[in-house]
Amino acid sequence: MDRQDQNTGLLESVGNFIARKGRRVWPLTVTAKETIAPRMMRVSFRGPDLDELPWLRGQDVVLEIPTATGLSRRHYTIRAHDAAAKTLAIDFVLHGEGASGPWLDALKPGDRVDAVGPRGHTYVRAADWHLFTGDETCIPGIFAMIEGLPDDTLVHAFIEIGDEADKLPLVAKADVRLHWISRGGAQAGPNDRVYNAVEQFVFPEGEGFAYTIGETSTVRKLRHRLLDRGFPRGRIAAEGYWRPGRVGGHDHV
Ligand SMILES: Cc1cc2nc3c(=O)[nH]c(=O)nc-3n(C[C@H](O)[C@H](O)[C@H](O)COP(=O)(O)OP(=O)(O)OC[C@H]3O[C@@H](n4cnc5c(N)ncnc54)[C@H](O)[C@@H]3O)c2cc1C
Repeated sequence: MDRQDQNTGLLESVGNFIARKGRRVWPLTVTAKETIAPRMMRVSFRGPDLDELPWLRGQDVVLEIPTATGLSRRHYTIRAHDAAAKTLAIDFVLHGEGASGPWLDALKPGDRVDAVGPRGHTYVRAADWHLFTGDETCIPGIFAMIEGLPDDTLVHAFIEIGDEADKLPLVAKADVRLHWISRGGAQAGPNDRVYNAVEQFVFPEGEGFAYTIGETSTVRKLRHRLLDRGFPRGRIAAEGYWRPGRVGGHDHV
């Protein structure tokens, strides 16, 4: 290998390292693809080392989606993980734009993709009660977290959806009050629907923890309001999952 090739190889490794921030890469193979709601697709994967995945419910991985121009990195929550079976599932919102759409259309059992992670500060904390807010991109994370909560834990979840068809079934041991908030068929985007619903919500007794995720400006507004209403800063996990015009990534809120 000459010096030029060595330099190119080194630059590529450094570039990959920075993109992946030193996190572990999990090679995944698609085993199944299923439409679970008109705008939600579940993809099941198997990976040779998924028994070693250190997953906290609510955390995500960055999928390295192949496109005509290279790899597009996108965050997706791990919806379910079975360490013994070395499998995981991801639920994708079919919103009609971006790199994910054509990739999902073409995806078939046997296809490969790399996942990097897991990452993220959205995971269950100890609390007397839990407040979850988000839109349809957050159903995988919110449901995964609720499913891990012990018997009778009090949970309020305010979830914005496009319309009734976006509702998904939840089986949980916790005492869950699920508040579906429909946009009545309107497009996803910044709005006050969940904010207004949470405004009517009287905080239960005891120490709560709030998980506020979804469209970035909606998350930001909700977080500020929770702080105004006396929610301790350290008891809110907030993250922007997407916003109009943003391509991939995530927003710190
Ligand atoms: C921590 C984390 C966890 C996430 N978990 C999930 C998950 O489990 N399932 C999931 O589906 N998404 C999830 N997301 C959101 C997902 O990463 C983004 O929606 C991402 O932009 C999708 O990539 P794309 O290629 O489809 O669109 P991009 O190429 O990134 O975006 C193209 C355009 O599409 C629009 N857009 C992007 N996302 C949406 C949306 N959800 N609704 C409407 N318009 C949109 C925007 O206008 C954007 O400019 C998560 C994000 C984060 C940060």
